[in-house]
Amino acid sequence: MIERPVFITDFSLDKTEELMSSFGEPAYRAKALLAWVYQKRAANFNDMTDFPRALRDKLIQTIKVASVEEIEVQKAKDGTVKALLGLWEGRTVETALLPSSTGQYTVCVSSQVGCATGCPFCATGQQGFERNLAVSEICDQVLYFARLLGDKGTISNIVFMGMGEPFANYLDVMSAVEHLNAPWGFGLGARNITISTAGHIPGIEKLSKEKLQLGLAVSLHAANNDLRNKLVPLNRKYPLDKLIPACAAYIEATGRRMTFEYCLFEGINDSLVQARELAHLLRGMNCHVNLIAANETLGCDYKPPKPEAVLAFEEELKRLRITVTLRRSFGRDIKGGCGQLKSRIGS
Ligand code: SAH
Ligand code: SF4
Repeated sequence: MIERPVFITDFSLDKTEELMSSFGEPAYRAKALLAWVYQKRAANFNDMTDFPRALRDKLIQTIKVASVEEIEVQKAKDGTVKALLGLWEGRTVETALLPSSTGQYTVCVSSQVGCATGCPFCATGQQGFERNLAVSEICDQVLYFARLLGDKGTISNIVFMGMGEPFANYLDVMSAVEHLNAPWGFGLGARNITISTAGHIPGIEKLSKEKLQLGLAVSLHAANNDLRNKLVPLNRKYPLDKLIPACAAYIEATGRRMTFEYCLFEGINDSLVQARELAHLLRGMNCHVNLIAANETLGCDYKPPKPEAVLAFEEELKRLRITVTLRRSFGRDIKGGCGQLKSRIGS
Protein backbone atom coordinates (compact mmCIF):
# COMPACT_ATOMS: atom_id res chain seq x y z
CA MET A 1 0.00 0.00 0.00
CA ILE A 2 1.26 3.49 -0.84
CA GLU A 3 1.73 5.67 2.20
CA ARG A 4 0.15 9.12 2.34
CA PRO A 5 2.77 11.78 1.59
CA VAL A 6 3.19 14.75 3.95
CA PHE A 7 2.26 18.14 2.51
CA ILE A 8 3.48 21.52 3.73
CA THR A 9 -0.09 22.88 3.97
CA ASP A 10 -0.82 20.20 6.61
CA PHE A 11 1.56 22.11 8.90
CA SER A 12 0.68 24.91 11.31
CA LEU A 13 3.30 27.59 12.02
CA ASP A 14 4.43 25.67 15.13
CA LYS A 15 4.88 22.44 13.19
CA THR A 16 6.78 24.25 10.45
CA GLU A 17 9.11 25.72 13.08
CA GLU A 18 9.68 22.21 14.45
CA LEU A 19 10.47 20.99 10.94
CA MET A 20 12.97 23.80 10.40
CA SER A 21 14.67 23.19 13.73
CA SER A 22 14.91 19.45 12.90
CA PHE A 23 16.92 20.60 9.87
CA GLY A 24 19.09 22.80 12.13
CA GLU A 25 17.59 25.94 10.58
CA PRO A 26 16.58 29.13 12.43
CA ALA A 27 12.88 29.47 13.36
CA TYR A 28 12.35 32.54 11.12
CA ARG A 29 12.77 30.30 8.09
CA ALA A 30 9.40 28.69 8.96
CA LYS A 31 7.56 31.94 8.25
CA ALA A 32 9.61 32.45 5.10
CA LEU A 33 8.69 28.95 3.91
CA LEU A 34 4.98 29.47 4.60
CA ALA A 35 5.09 32.87 2.88
CA TRP A 36 6.49 31.18 -0.22
CA VAL A 37 3.61 28.70 -0.14
CA TYR A 38 0.61 30.85 0.84
CA GLN A 39 1.56 34.32 -0.39
CA LYS A 40 3.99 33.83 -3.27
CA ARG A 41 2.15 30.62 -4.24
CA ALA A 42 5.33 28.70 -5.06
CA ALA A 43 4.50 25.43 -6.79
CA ASN A 44 7.72 23.67 -5.74
CA PHE A 45 10.65 24.07 -3.36
CA ASN A 46 13.08 24.97 -6.15
CA ASP A 47 11.11 28.22 -6.66
CA MET A 48 12.21 29.28 -3.14
CA THR A 49 15.31 30.91 -4.51
CA ASP A 50 16.43 32.62 -1.30
CA PHE A 51 16.75 29.23 0.46
CA PRO A 52 20.15 27.49 0.34
CA ARG A 53 20.31 24.58 -2.10
CA ALA A 54 20.91 22.10 0.75
CA LEU A 55 17.73 23.22 2.55
CA ARG A 56 15.67 22.98 -0.63
CA ASP A 57 16.99 19.43 -1.13
CA LYS A 58 16.06 18.44 2.42
CA LEU A 59 12.56 19.85 1.96
CA ILE A 60 12.14 18.00 -1.34
CA GLN A 61 13.11 14.72 0.32
CA THR A 62 10.77 15.21 3.31
CA ILE A 63 7.64 16.91 2.18
CA LYS A 64 5.51 17.89 -0.84
CA VAL A 65 4.10 21.28 -1.77
CA ALA A 66 0.71 20.55 -3.36
CA SER A 67 -1.73 17.83 -2.33
CA VAL A 68 -4.06 18.31 -5.32
CA GLU A 69 -3.40 18.12 -9.04
CA GLU A 70 -5.53 19.30 -11.90
CA ILE A 71 -7.40 16.60 -13.82
CA GLU A 72 -9.97 18.60 -15.73
CA VAL A 73 -11.01 22.25 -15.89
CA GLN A 74 -14.20 23.69 -17.30
CA LYS A 75 -14.96 27.34 -17.92
CA ALA A 76 -18.52 28.65 -18.13
CA LYS A 77 -19.68 31.65 -20.16
CA ASP A 78 -20.24 33.65 -16.96
CA GLY A 79 -16.59 33.20 -15.95
CA THR A 80 -17.14 30.39 -13.42
CA VAL A 81 -14.27 27.91 -13.50
CA LYS A 82 -14.70 24.43 -12.16
CA ALA A 83 -11.84 22.04 -11.55
CA LEU A 84 -11.71 18.34 -10.87
CA LEU A 85 -8.64 17.78 -8.70
CA GLY A 86 -6.85 14.50 -8.04
CA LEU A 87 -5.77 13.51 -4.52
CA TRP A 88 -2.70 11.47 -3.59
CA GLU A 89 -4.40 8.06 -3.70
CA GLY A 90 -6.30 8.77 -6.93
CA ARG A 91 -9.62 9.95 -5.52
CA THR A 92 -10.99 13.21 -6.92
CA VAL A 93 -12.71 16.29 -5.60
CA GLU A 94 -14.29 19.39 -7.11
CA THR A 95 -13.52 23.06 -6.53
CA ALA A 96 -15.03 26.12 -8.19
CA LEU A 97 -13.94 29.72 -8.78
CA LEU A 98 -16.80 32.19 -8.95
CA PRO A 99 -16.27 35.72 -10.30
CA SER A 100 -17.98 38.70 -8.67
CA SER A 101 -19.05 41.96 -10.27
CA THR A 102 -16.16 43.76 -8.53
CA GLY A 103 -13.54 41.69 -10.36
CA GLN A 104 -12.70 39.62 -7.30
CA TYR A 105 -13.25 35.91 -6.89
CA THR A 106 -14.84 33.46 -4.47
CA VAL A 107 -13.44 29.94 -4.16
CA CYS A 108 -15.98 27.25 -3.35
CA VAL A 109 -14.11 24.47 -1.55
CA SER A 110 -14.96 20.86 -0.76
CA SER A 111 -14.53 19.42 2.73
CA GLN A 112 -15.06 15.71 2.00
CA VAL A 113 -14.87 13.27 -0.89
CA GLY A 114 -18.59 12.53 -1.31
CA CYS A 115 -21.09 13.12 1.49
CA ALA A 116 -22.97 10.84 3.85
CA THR A 117 -26.01 13.12 4.13
CA GLY A 118 -27.53 11.99 0.83
CA CYS A 119 -29.74 14.95 -0.09
CA PRO A 120 -31.64 13.66 -3.15
CA PHE A 121 -31.17 16.81 -5.29
CA CYS A 122 -27.41 16.98 -4.76
CA ALA A 123 -24.94 15.29 -7.11
CA THR A 124 -22.45 14.81 -4.24
CA GLY A 125 -25.14 13.25 -2.07
CA GLN A 126 -25.75 10.63 -4.76
CA GLN A 127 -22.10 9.54 -4.67
CA GLY A 128 -22.09 8.42 -1.03
CA PHE A 129 -19.28 9.15 1.42
CA GLU A 130 -15.67 8.20 0.69
CA ARG A 131 -13.45 10.10 3.10
CA ASN A 132 -12.73 13.37 4.85
CA LEU A 133 -10.31 15.82 3.25
CA ALA A 134 -7.16 16.73 5.16
CA VAL A 135 -6.19 20.30 6.09
CA SER A 136 -3.73 20.38 3.18
CA GLU A 137 -6.32 19.20 0.66
CA ILE A 138 -8.70 21.97 1.71
CA CYS A 139 -6.06 24.75 1.68
CA ASP A 140 -4.60 23.53 -1.62
CA GLN A 141 -7.94 23.92 -3.41
CA VAL A 142 -7.65 27.65 -2.69
CA LEU A 143 -3.96 27.77 -3.61
CA TYR A 144 -4.69 25.91 -6.85
CA PHE A 145 -6.97 28.77 -7.96
CA ALA A 146 -4.64 31.42 -6.56
CA ARG A 147 -1.88 30.03 -8.81
CA LEU A 148 -4.25 29.78 -11.78
CA LEU A 149 -5.31 33.42 -11.34
CA GLY A 150 -1.76 34.69 -10.84
CA ASP A 151 -1.86 38.49 -10.88
CA LYS A 152 -5.06 38.49 -12.97
CA GLY A 153 -7.36 38.54 -9.96
CA THR A 154 -7.66 38.28 -6.19
CA ILE A 155 -9.52 35.80 -4.07
CA SER A 156 -11.72 37.81 -1.73
CA ASN A 157 -13.95 35.06 -0.31
CA ILE A 158 -13.91 31.36 0.48
CA VAL A 159 -17.10 29.36 0.93
CA PHE A 160 -17.36 25.77 2.15
CA MET A 161 -20.11 24.96 -0.33
CA GLY A 162 -18.40 22.32 -2.43
CA MET A 163 -18.62 18.59 -1.82
CA GLY A 164 -19.28 17.31 1.68
CA GLU A 165 -20.60 18.39 5.06
CA PRO A 166 -17.94 20.62 6.69
CA PHE A 167 -19.07 19.94 10.27
CA ALA A 168 -18.72 16.18 9.74
CA ASN A 169 -14.99 16.99 9.27
CA TYR A 170 -14.81 19.67 11.95
CA LEU A 171 -11.15 19.49 13.01
CA ASP A 172 -9.58 19.57 9.55
CA VAL A 173 -12.01 22.23 8.37
CA MET A 174 -11.21 24.47 11.35
CA SER A 175 -7.45 23.96 10.93
CA ALA A 176 -7.79 24.85 7.25
CA VAL A 177 -9.74 27.98 8.25
CA GLU A 178 -6.86 28.86 10.58
CA HIS A 179 -4.26 28.44 7.81
CA LEU A 180 -6.36 30.44 5.35
CA ASN A 181 -6.99 33.20 7.89
CA ALA A 182 -3.62 33.49 9.67
CA PRO A 183 -1.18 36.29 8.77
CA TRP A 184 1.49 33.60 8.28
CA GLY A 185 -0.90 31.72 5.98
CA PHE A 186 -3.24 32.88 3.20
CA GLY A 187 -4.24 35.93 5.28
CA LEU A 188 -7.91 36.16 4.32
CA GLY A 189 -10.21 37.82 6.90
CA ALA A 190 -12.44 35.38 8.81
CA ARG A 191 -15.46 37.51 7.80
CA ASN A 192 -14.72 36.51 4.22
CA ILE A 193 -14.88 32.79 4.98
CA THR A 194 -18.29 31.09 5.17
CA ILE A 195 -19.13 27.59 6.30
CA SER A 196 -22.30 26.04 4.91
CA THR A 197 -23.88 23.18 6.83
CA ALA A 198 -26.88 20.96 6.22
CA GLY A 199 -27.78 21.59 9.89
CA HIS A 200 -25.21 19.68 11.93
CA ILE A 201 -26.12 20.96 15.42
CA PRO A 202 -22.92 19.88 17.30
CA GLY A 203 -20.88 21.75 14.66
CA ILE A 204 -22.98 24.91 15.04
CA GLU A 205 -22.57 24.72 18.83
CA LYS A 206 -18.80 24.24 18.59
CA LEU A 207 -18.45 27.07 16.09
CA SER A 208 -20.27 29.45 18.41
CA LYS A 209 -17.47 28.94 20.95
CA GLU A 210 -14.59 29.53 18.50
CA LYS A 211 -14.49 33.33 18.84
CA LEU A 212 -13.96 33.63 15.12
CA GLN A 213 -15.79 36.07 12.87
CA LEU A 214 -16.65 33.35 10.33
CA GLY A 215 -19.84 33.40 8.30
CA LEU A 216 -22.34 30.59 8.92
CA ALA A 217 -24.94 29.40 6.41
CA VAL A 218 -27.48 26.67 7.13
CA SER A 219 -29.07 24.89 4.16
CA LEU A 220 -32.73 24.88 5.12
CA HIS A 221 -34.68 24.19 1.88
CA ALA A 222 -37.88 23.41 3.82
CA ALA A 223 -39.64 24.97 6.81
CA ASN A 224 -41.38 21.84 8.13
CA ASN A 225 -39.95 18.53 9.30
CA ASP A 226 -41.94 16.30 6.92
CA LEU A 227 -40.55 17.93 3.81
CA ARG A 228 -37.11 18.62 5.26
CA ASN A 229 -36.73 14.95 6.27
CA LYS A 230 -36.93 14.14 2.56
CA LEU A 231 -34.87 17.01 1.15
CA VAL A 232 -32.14 17.07 3.80
CA PRO A 233 -32.11 13.64 5.50
CA LEU A 234 -29.86 14.99 8.30
CA ASN A 235 -33.08 16.59 9.55
CA ARG A 236 -34.14 13.20 10.95
CA LYS A 237 -31.22 13.44 13.35
CA TYR A 238 -31.34 17.20 13.91
CA PRO A 239 -34.98 18.30 13.34
CA LEU A 240 -36.09 21.90 12.88
CA ASP A 241 -37.42 22.21 16.44
CA LYS A 242 -33.83 21.66 17.67
CA LEU A 243 -31.99 23.24 14.71
CA ILE A 244 -33.70 26.65 14.83
CA PRO A 245 -33.05 27.13 18.59
CA ALA A 246 -29.40 26.07 17.99
CA CYS A 247 -29.15 28.76 15.29
CA ALA A 248 -30.77 31.33 17.58
CA ALA A 249 -28.23 30.42 20.29
CA TYR A 250 -25.39 30.83 17.76
CA ILE A 251 -26.64 34.31 16.81
CA GLU A 252 -26.95 35.21 20.50
CA ALA A 253 -23.47 33.92 21.41
CA THR A 254 -21.63 35.46 18.46
CA GLY A 255 -23.70 38.59 17.85
CA ARG A 256 -23.48 37.73 14.16
CA ARG A 257 -26.22 37.57 11.58
CA MET A 258 -26.44 34.21 9.86
CA THR A 259 -27.68 33.01 6.51
CA PHE A 260 -30.27 30.39 5.63
CA GLU A 261 -29.90 28.87 2.19
CA TYR A 262 -33.20 27.99 0.54
CA CYS A 263 -32.91 26.22 -2.76
CA LEU A 264 -36.16 26.32 -4.77
CA PHE A 265 -37.42 23.13 -6.42
CA GLU A 266 -40.43 23.36 -8.72
CA GLY A 267 -43.63 22.00 -7.18
CA ILE A 268 -41.78 20.85 -4.04
CA ASN A 269 -40.95 23.86 -1.85
CA ASP A 270 -41.73 26.91 -4.01
CA SER A 271 -45.35 27.79 -3.17
CA LEU A 272 -46.38 31.04 -1.49
CA VAL A 273 -47.78 29.04 1.43
CA GLN A 274 -44.29 27.60 1.90
CA ALA A 275 -42.79 31.12 1.70
CA ARG A 276 -45.11 32.13 4.56
CA GLU A 277 -44.17 29.04 6.54
CA LEU A 278 -40.49 29.96 6.11
CA ALA A 279 -41.09 33.55 7.18
CA HIS A 280 -42.94 32.31 10.24
CA LEU A 281 -40.12 29.91 11.19
CA LEU A 282 -37.47 32.65 10.98
CA ARG A 283 -39.47 35.54 12.43
CA GLY A 284 -37.42 37.70 14.79
CA MET A 285 -34.08 36.05 14.04
CA ASN A 286 -31.05 38.11 12.99
CA CYS A 287 -30.68 36.27 9.71
CA HIS A 288 -31.07 36.57 6.01
CA VAL A 289 -32.35 34.13 3.44
CA ASN A 290 -30.36 33.29 0.35
CA LEU A 291 -32.72 32.00 -2.31
CA ILE A 292 -31.34 29.98 -5.20
CA ALA A 293 -33.12 28.21 -8.02
CA ALA A 294 -32.11 24.54 -8.21
CA ASN A 295 -29.28 23.46 -10.42
CA GLU A 296 -30.49 20.42 -12.30
CA THR A 297 -28.43 17.32 -11.66
CA LEU A 298 -28.32 14.39 -14.04
CA GLY A 299 -31.12 11.88 -13.56
CA CYS A 300 -32.83 13.75 -10.77
CA ASP A 301 -36.42 15.04 -10.51
CA TYR A 302 -35.60 18.27 -8.70
CA LYS A 303 -36.02 21.10 -11.18
CA PRO A 304 -35.77 24.89 -10.85
CA PRO A 305 -39.10 26.75 -10.78
CA LYS A 306 -39.99 29.24 -13.55
CA PRO A 307 -38.34 32.65 -12.95
CA GLU A 308 -41.77 34.19 -12.12
CA ALA A 309 -42.28 31.66 -9.32
CA VAL A 310 -38.81 32.42 -7.91
CA LEU A 311 -39.57 36.16 -7.91
CA ALA A 312 -43.00 35.63 -6.35
CA PHE A 313 -41.42 33.57 -3.53
CA GLU A 314 -38.85 36.32 -2.96
CA GLU A 315 -41.53 39.03 -2.95
CA GLU A 316 -43.63 37.13 -0.42
CA LEU A 317 -40.65 36.85 1.95
CA LYS A 318 -39.93 40.58 1.54
CA ARG A 319 -43.57 41.40 2.22
CA LEU A 320 -43.26 39.45 5.48
CA ARG A 321 -40.12 41.48 6.35
CA ILE A 322 -37.58 38.72 5.86
CA THR A 323 -34.26 39.97 4.49
CA VAL A 324 -33.71 38.00 1.33
CA THR A 325 -31.28 37.90 -1.57
CA LEU A 326 -31.66 35.95 -4.77
CA ARG A 327 -28.39 34.22 -5.44
CA ARG A 328 -27.45 33.84 -9.02
CA SER A 329 -26.70 30.30 -10.02
CA PHE A 330 -23.18 29.98 -11.33
CA GLY A 331 -21.96 28.14 -14.40
CA ARG A 332 -25.24 26.60 -15.52
CA ASP A 333 -23.80 25.69 -18.92
CA ILE A 334 -21.09 23.58 -17.27
CA LYS A 335 -23.38 22.07 -14.62
CA GLY A 336 -21.97 24.39 -11.95
CA GLY A 337 -23.42 22.56 -8.93
CA CYS A 338 -20.66 20.88 -6.97
CA GLY A 339 -20.46 17.15 -7.46
CA GLN A 340 -21.75 17.40 -11.01
CA LEU A 341 -18.41 17.30 -12.81
CA LYS A 342 -17.30 14.32 -10.79
CA SER A 343 -20.63 12.55 -11.43
CA ARG A 344 -20.10 12.92 -15.17
CA ILE A 345 -16.45 11.93 -15.28
CA GLY A 346 -16.39 9.36 -12.48
CA SER A 347 -13.53 9.11 -10.02
N1 SAH B 1 -23.06 20.10 2.88
C1 SAH B 1 -23.16 21.50 3.06
C2 SAH B 1 -22.24 22.29 2.16
C3 SAH B 1 -22.07 21.79 0.76
S1 SAH B 1 -23.50 21.88 -0.27
C4 SAH B 1 -24.59 21.96 2.90
O1 SAH B 1 -25.43 21.16 2.48
O2 SAH B 1 -24.86 23.11 3.24
C5 SAH B 1 -23.56 23.64 -0.60
C6 SAH B 1 -24.93 24.14 -1.02
O3 SAH B 1 -25.26 23.67 -2.33
C7 SAH B 1 -26.04 23.71 -0.09
O4 SAH B 1 -26.87 24.81 0.24
C8 SAH B 1 -26.76 22.70 -0.94
O5 SAH B 1 -28.07 22.49 -0.50
C9 SAH B 1 -26.62 23.30 -2.32
N2 SAH B 1 -26.93 22.39 -3.42
C10 SAH B 1 -26.62 21.09 -3.56
N3 SAH B 1 -27.13 20.58 -4.72
C11 SAH B 1 -27.77 21.60 -5.32
C12 SAH B 1 -28.50 21.71 -6.54
N4 SAH B 1 -28.68 20.68 -7.36
N5 SAH B 1 -29.03 22.92 -6.84
C13 SAH B 1 -28.84 23.99 -6.01
N6 SAH B 1 -28.17 23.94 -4.84
C14 SAH B 1 -27.65 22.75 -4.50
FE1 SF4 C 1 -24.08 16.66 1.45
FE2 SF4 C 1 -24.64 19.30 1.33
FE3 SF4 C 1 -24.97 17.69 -0.84
FE4 SF4 C 1 -26.63 17.45 1.24
S1 SF4 C 1 -26.40 19.25 -0.09
S2 SF4 C 1 -25.65 15.74 0.14
S3 SF4 C 1 -25.25 17.84 2.95
S4 SF4 C 1 -23.06 18.17 0.16
